[in-house]
Amino acid sequence: MAEKNIIEKQTDKPLIEIKQLKKYYPIKKGIISRTVSHVKAVDGLNFAINPGETLALVGESGCGKSSTGRTIVKLEEPTEGQIIFQGNDLSTLKGNDLRKVRLNLQIIFQDPYSSLNPRKRVGDLLAEPLLAHKLAGKEEANKKVEEILEIVGLTKLHKNRYPHEFSGGQRQRIGIARALILEPDLIVCDEPVSALDVSIQAQILNLLKDLQKKFRLTYLFIAHGLGAVKYISDRIAVMYLGKIVEIGKTEDIFKHPKHPYTQALLNAYPIPNPHLRDRERIVLEGDVPSPANPPKGCSFHTRCPIAKDICRQQTPKLLGSDQSVACHFPLQGGVN
Ligand code: SF4
Repeated sequence: MAEKNIIEKQTDKPLIEIKQLKKYYPIKKGIISRTVSHVKAVDGLNFAINPGETLALVGESGCGKSSTGRTIVKLEEPTEGQIIFQGNDLSTLKGNDLRKVRLNLQIIFQDPYSSLNPRKRVGDLLAEPLLAHKLAGKEEANKKVEEILEIVGLTKLHKNRYPHEFSGGQRQRIGIARALILEPDLIVCDEPVSALDVSIQAQILNLLKDLQKKFRLTYLFIAHGLGAVKYISDRIAVMYLGKIVEIGKTEDIFKHPKHPYTQALLNAYPIPNPHLRDRERIVLEGDVPSPANPPKGCSFHTRCPIAKDICRQQTPKLLGSDQSVACHFPLQGGVN
């Protein structure tokens, strides 16, 4: 696999731009399955990711982050909006044109085991996309499989084994190898370490970081907590009920969170510095409301400890340039 030249001309042009992206799932009722409402899993997202960058998408279960990832790689059709990837609008591309562009856009799943056919040997699973897209003959594909297995920290002997013969961490390495073998530019990492033991999580994060440097990869890294993303991301977008409520550089988000929801997520993250342990805490109570019936105004007002009347009536806009926040009363102090 060819290493990409990291000192190649840097461009300010984003690799991918998401504009007003919506993904609604219909709720059907009655004998004729009439659509009575929609679950608004993704509700008007706008963001861009630059080449070589990692943007983390963070939020509790049910906030729409996995639907966002699956819609971006076109495992789901968007309801509305644009996905501009390398100048092509994926929301309108179809057939062969879409397939060609999709090769450059891969996904790593949280549970690699469910995405690996248990009846196939790892070598065949990895060679499959190369052969299916006629990107290599059998011999070349085999060579590439052996090479990629070494790159992700396994050995070429592993190609003859079946997925059930591997540990969780090794299976995630196979998932990474499968995403990497087509030499993509962007990888959506959908909670790739959430199901792993803490000690293994660090190894997989290190591997992803090394691969990013080596092959100049761009990541959309989806996670439900802020722990893993501090280490791997350049920027963080915090999602709540289908919308981004705060987005900014990782350092700024950790030092000066402006949205009460971001602050609450940070409070769930262990604080190594004892002097910061008494910082003001916002503890999340209750569950995320149903995206089929989101609260009016600011959708976080039902759980926000500083909500006021206006929050129940007016939806705050995402405002600000470097660190944008959607809140009528953004936090000022930060955690330092
Ligand atoms: Fe809380 Fe109001 Fe800000 Fe929403 S807009 S996060 S309810 S203060």
